[in-house]
Amino acid sequence: MKVLVLNCGSSSLKYQLIEMQGETVLAKGLVEKIGEGISILKYELQTGKELAIEEKIADHSQAIEMVLEILQDKSHGVIKNMDEINVVGHRVVHGGEKFSGSVLINNEVCKALEENIKLAPLHNPANLIGIKVSQRLMPDTPDVGVFDTAFHQSMSEESFLYAVPYAWYQENGVRRYGFHGTSHKYVSEKAAELINRDYNQLRIISCHLGNGASIAAINQGQVIDTSMGFTPLEGVAMGTRSGDLDPGIIPYIMKERNLTIEDIDSILNKESGVLGISSISNDFRDLSEAAKSGNKRAELALEIFCRRVKKYIGSYAALMGGIDVIIFTAGIGENAINVREKILSNMDYFGIELSSEKNNLRGQEAEISAANSRVKVYVIPTNEELVIAREAKKIIKNKIRKVIEDVLNS
Ligand code: AMP
Repeated sequence: MKVLVLNCGSSSLKYQLIEMQGETVLAKGLVEKIGEGISILKYELQTGKELAIEEKIADHSQAIEMVLEILQDKSHGVIKNMDEINVVGHRVVHGGEKFSGSVLINNEVCKALEENIKLAPLHNPANLIGIKVSQRLMPDTPDVGVFDTAFHQSMSEESFLYAVPYAWYQENGVRRYGFHGTSHKYVSEKAAELINRDYNQLRIISCHLGNGASIAAINQGQVIDTSMGFTPLEGVAMGTRSGDLDPGIIPYIMKERNLTIEDIDSILNKESGVLGISSISNDFRDLSEAAKSGNKRAELALEIFCRRVKKYIGSYAALMGGIDVIIFTAGIGENAINVREKILSNMDYFGIELSSEKNNLRGQEAEISAANSRVKVYVIPTNEELVIAREAKKIIKNKIRKVIEDVLNS
């Protein structure tokens, strides 16, 4: 079975074509700057051979058409025709409360996704466009939606409710949803596999630290809390997002600096976090370099980021009555040696001891805790595309099974 995974962002499209037998990535790539003048389509084959095409790509429809064309190209393609694609798996950011698992897309699902646009105005519209274009270009191929929020739907009311009027939840959908669910699911299941323990017996803290960052507490296979909330703005400080903040600051600073709702939303999402503190960069490579050369604000930004992550680890340990495994993943989690070290410093009273020798690695799956550490610490590169492909395969297999059962029972 071949699954095409599509991840549509506001001006980008990430794609992978995966052969599920052996879970081999046949081709993958990225289209950047869609609708922004000259766009770039990057294409990489299993052999490592890479291509980059620069041209004007007006919208997601054209981008997906180009991806399908290159996948079938006589010289560089990996399939003869589109019929070889058995299912398309779409990343969808917000599934709201309606979707606690992946779904086969139909008109009803599309309608529900449209209703969720107000919950994720930056992400869901692009995801929906991807689905509509895929349905138009490959009308006979099923589409499956895999939601970033779904893995977190196991949270209980005391975890997902905010202490605001209950009507905000009932009438306006205000609650913690959580994001990066596919990533937390992938790395936490992988960790259980690596330590050869039953997933449903473990207390896991998964730290997805990328430009967007979130922490999840997974107790006996279920998410019991996560740091991102109603939107991806809550939680730890991030590249450009503020993370947790006293809500009282918002009306105060809006008055003081004469800001509109749009201004404050944009500042908290795009000009805050480690970029806001350092005024240098949202990239941890730049910050680490600057801190090394004595820039105090870069050092402060790194300290604040690490401190926030440490606080979440401590609070989740309290909620789960201890920790068995901590996982670092995504751009910073997989690569920033100094950040991992800082976050887990002086936590031996929790049974957490890092091995500085083992921690000296980037982008590889490995245990980095010391031999005597009671809590196992792992770096696990995330693979959201593979989770989406596995989910798409599962949904299609279940659908086929159901059709056969119905025929046999009729
Ligand atoms: P992501 O959102 O998961 O793609 O992560 C992107 C972020 O990872 C970048 O903004 C950097 O801050 C960080 N990152 C990537 N590579 C490195 C590296 N080698 N060292 C430190 N941070 C890195």
